[in-house]
Amino acid sequence: PVALALFTSDLRLHDNPVLRAAVRAGDRVVPLFVVDSGVAAAGFAAPNRSAFLAGCLADLDEGLRARGGRLVVRRGDVVEETCRVAAAADAVEVHVAGGVSGYAHRREERLRAALEADGRRLRVHDAVVTVVAPGEVAPAGKDHFAVFTPYFRRWSAEPPRAVADPPRRVDVPEVDGLPVPSAADLGADGAAPGLPRGGEREGRRRLTAWLRNGVDRYAELHDDLAADATSRLSAYLHFGCLSPLEVVTRARGNDSPGAEAFVRQLAWRDFHHQVLAARPRAAAADYRTRHDRWRRDAGEFDAWRAGYTGYPVVDAAMRQLAHEGWTHNRARMIVASFLAKTLHHDWREGARHFLRHLVDGDLANNQLNWQWMAGTGTDTRPNRVLNPVVQGRRFDPGGDYVRRWVPELAGVPGPAVHEPWKLPAAVRSGLRYPEPLVDLAEALARFRAARGLD
Ligand code: FAD
Repeated sequence: PVALALFTSDLRLHDNPVLRAAVRAGDRVVPLFVVDSGVAAAGFAAPNRSAFLAGCLADLDEGLRARGGRLVVRRGDVVEETCRVAAAADAVEVHVAGGVSGYAHRREERLRAALEADGRRLRVHDAVVTVVAPGEVAPAGKDHFAVFTPYFRRWSAEPPRAVADPPRRVDVPEVDGLPVPSAADLGADGAAPGLPRGGEREGRRRLTAWLRNGVDRYAELHDDLAADATSRLSAYLHFGCLSPLEVVTRARGNDSPGAEAFVRQLAWRDFHHQVLAARPRAAAADYRTRHDRWRRDAGEFDAWRAGYTGYPVVDAAMRQLAHEGWTHNRARMIVASFLAKTLHHDWREGARHFLRHLVDGDLANNQLNWQWMAGTGTDTRPNRVLNPVVQGRRFDPGGDYVRRWVPELAGVPGPAVHEPWKLPAAVRSGLRYPEPLVDLAEALARFRAARGLD
């Protein structure tokens, strides 16, 4: 029989339950990727991720060719195209990873109905995009955890599953497909200059290098903005070039506090995924409303977006985001707090901007981290406001991070770079760096009043 493996957020051969099950079910397998018009219509096919995706698909095709197969690529509505290919190849079963977004849920329902109407079967595999499947661990009587610590306890106690080898051979039947799309075909024009190359091979190379040379110091350095000492594996995880189970399993083999702290971050990833899977509406609606009446000010938003707020660590982060399609977790927290709390703009606006630029842009991680920072999500301290000057001094104590990304301030030595307004007037006037967009004390008072905290 023929089986079809529909790739979605699992663009890999190693430890891929979808591909493995298809190879077991059929003597021939159609490895299918559909350039989904629905994803583009939802505005999710941003240039940076399209560029990365092109690398992933080329690499997946190469990996399949090395095993006697190839990637079958189609373009259009994912459900219609999958059904067409299944019919053309007479595939009995279609295998796909369970997703967590509302879009993925609907895709699954539509696929199931359309395939069954045609006498075929959909097999959904959970725990492909996460280590622990959403809903697998839950508090008594509830469908998901809303607090991380008890989630993490349960998540850590799950019996470890074995990491699967890639298939040795993939025999693909005759079916029509398109050439593997280039970055330009996928709409990557205007992508950021400093993007990493997508693909499983590159992801595995980076993972190995990270576990050998980086993870040991993760516990002490992960919050240090200038050290840039995190794994940078997020885009590989988002596209599924790496199996999160394999990443965790290999990291656990490294017995250091750094590896432990790193595994905890991967549990955060699972945590947000299980929240979104249970509450797909949290992608757009407040998980917990604080009855915010968000402010709107196009000038302020533009200054934030472009990195001209006059708060150096905020501007450094926003400019890094524009240049690399990535910025550090601490930097993301600082700029999110600045937009949602200091300026009190709607977190959805910030989240949308992030999704337009982040190469790792991920609905679960992005929307729920934004909600966390806005205090509308699962944060247990929803009214905490990060002061960008304090954060800058603490997490970029030497000021190197700011100088790297804000050239106007490159000549200001030491931590003084975090408060350019305190520099002597003569120095200050030569900098061509903006005055602070808002007064922090006034902004804090405004936020506290808006939330009824005083
Ligand atoms: P590392 O520090 O090396 O962490 C290892 C992995 O753990 C990451 O690759 C990621 O998969 C996971 N991880 C780490 N921190 C978090 C976290 N807070 N939540 C969930 N998973 C985490 N991450 C995304 O992958 N996509 C997003 O769209 C995204 N948007 C964010 C928006 C905001 C406002 C904030 C505060 C955080 C966001 N994050 C997002 C989480 C985090 O910032 C990134 O995963 C991390 O910076 C990626 O860099 P890294 O791979 O070097 O991380």
